[in-house]
Amino acid sequence: MAVNKGQRPLIAANWKAHGDRHELSRWCEAVGTAPGNVDYLFLPPAVLLPMVQQLAPPFAWGGQDICPVEQGSHTGEVTAAMLLECGASHTLVGHSECRNLRADTDDRVAAKYAVAARAGLVPVLCVGETLAERESGHSEAVVSRQLAAVLATAPPPLPLVGAVLAYEPVWAIGTGCVASPAVVQQMHAALRRLWQSERGGESLRLLYGGSVKADNAAALACQPDVDGFLVGRASLVATEFLAIAKASIATTS
Ligand code: PEP
Repeated sequence: MAVNKGQRPLIAANWKAHGDRHELSRWCEAVGTAPGNVDYLFLPPAVLLPMVQQLAPPFAWGGQDICPVEQGSHTGEVTAAMLLECGASHTLVGHSECRNLRADTDDRVAAKYAVAARAGLVPVLCVGETLAERESGHSEAVVSRQLAAVLATAPPPLPLVGAVLAYEPVWAIGTGCVASPAVVQQMHAALRRLWQSERGGESLRLLYGGSVKADNAAALACQPDVDGFLVGRASLVATEFLAIAKASIATTS
């Protein structure tokens, strides 16, 4: 049965450190001719963004991460201005791989969120608990803390309209171990409640990320608080990515 969520699903492809120019052009062609009723967001490695801009596919694209300051001595970082110059409209902030591998703290994630929002990019804030945090019963407290850290530094004047939040349990990312629909719904509902208590009725899309594939997408997509997916490994194969999108459309109206 289709669930009416009042907005189109958003399906994002995070290529992480995968892909090259040939794969990129094949992928953009395949996804560019995909059926409508869904919004696509493509997050390739930063060096491929100028090529995406040249190909000008009919979907949005963005960065996988962003420098926490406008410019400066931050070797290896990509600034908001650089992303905008490549035609990007979005950027991930707080992906667990950045939190873990690059020591992104809540404060650093909040700074990235603010710098992106001030520049006019839509920050896709990723939150999620580790397995130890889940097993000790702290899942909701952890994601609430991660979201609260950002909301505390993003007062009303910042362009939060059209905000996107991704619940990505660390234990499900790249592990093949997907969270159950019940767990996802419970966490999304908690995040939406927290959002609403701070931001009122401002629009929010809540994505789930963590080993999403064509064969588990439909059961997750029909949860009332799931507005789309952030897809990692499975997004590299255009047919698999499109099958995930199709499964999401079939369950929403
Ligand atoms: C991700 O990197 O955001 C992700 C969800 O990865 P995967 O789908 O591979 O678990």
